[in-house]
Amino acid sequence: MQSVGFIEPEGFKADNQDYRILIMKAAFLTGIRGMEIRDVPAPQIEAPNDVLVRIDAVGVCGSDVHYYTTGAIGRQKIVYPWTVGHECAGTVVEVGSGVSNLKTGQRVAIDPLKTCGTCDQCLAGREHTCRNQAFLACPGQLPGALAEYIVMPASCCLPVPDSMNDDEVTIVEPLSIGMYACGLAPENPPKRAAILGSGPIGLSVLLSLRAAGTEEIFVTDLLPERLEIAARMGADWTGCHPACDVVAEILDQTKLGVDCVFECAGQQETLDQCAGLLRPGGTILAIGIPQLDRVSFSPDIMRRNEIRLQNVRRQNGCVQAAIDLISSGQVNVMPMVTHHFDLDGSRDAFEMVADYRDGVVKAIINV
Ligand SMILES: [Zn+2]
Ligand SMILES: [Zn+2]
Repeated sequence: MQSVGFIEPEGFKADNQDYRILIMKAAFLTGIRGMEIRDVPAPQIEAPNDVLVRIDAVGVCGSDVHYYTTGAIGRQKIVYPWTVGHECAGTVVEVGSGVSNLKTGQRVAIDPLKTCGTCDQCLAGREHTCRNQAFLACPGQLPGALAEYIVMPASCCLPVPDSMNDDEVTIVEPLSIGMYACGLAPENPPKRAAILGSGPIGLSVLLSLRAAGTEEIFVTDLLPERLEIAARMGADWTGCHPACDVVAEILDQTKLGVDCVFECAGQQETLDQCAGLLRPGGTILAIGIPQLDRVSFSPDIMRRNEIRLQNVRRQNGCVQAAIDLISSGQVNVMPMVTHHFDLDGSRDAFEMVADYRDGVVKAIINV
């Protein structure tokens, strides 16, 4: 399919400063497991601090697929048609009159969160729980990035060096979540940690822990191919659940239990494993998004061992740190990027990720 990025407005002249991108292609969710590429009006710069970004690549996130297969995450329900996508690499094509730190042609990583800067949460440095926030692709908030163009505030567009490829720029967002979660552990870094769920977020936690200096990292998953990638990315031990009793095997090696468990699967079964893996006084970091409206914990072991439960909401202030971690060569995110698609293949990408087909970990759509 041919792109219709540039359309000549009426009265267009070659030197006309008002030459604008009017129409673009975007991938819309149209129903449960329904997706269509449509031509729609391109977003325009409205505020002085806005930046128009051409999207180069979008990572398919578990949360996007959640919307694709169920139409909702918790109370966030999609009104169709709706665009998804929030892990993206782009290039600045136009800046608002008040933008001085970005120029056209600058490649950027996008922080998908737009905050108000004035509520109690923003003032307390908790921008990620801003009371007036708008997140890319969150129903009713900001349209998603699975489109040729988006408009974001300049503060959400972080320049990246040319040494980083589009895949690496796309992984900045999940890696920032991994780094943020590690920073929430009471011991920073924890000496011993377990990661339950070896998808892109679990692997991002793994890279972050490794870079921070955690001595021993245990990773579990249902899928052996994901564990192979975890082993390549620095896991000290991997275990396939339920083929082996991962709790017994990790305890057998650590004797006393781990300091932190990063729950990245969002399953009741993995949540049930957490407390048993921890030493008394250890911490569960709950990152996975459960499909269920309710999950449960056994008060017996949680109370007896005074287990701490720390929920993790996306990330806060870790995007630049993630860019630095990748661009400095301290971590290699590329083993988790398993598949590429073009915009027309978006539905195939979502189907593949939804069904965990072909060993997919991170699928990236090159827009
Ligand atoms: Zn994501
Ligand atoms: Zn706020």
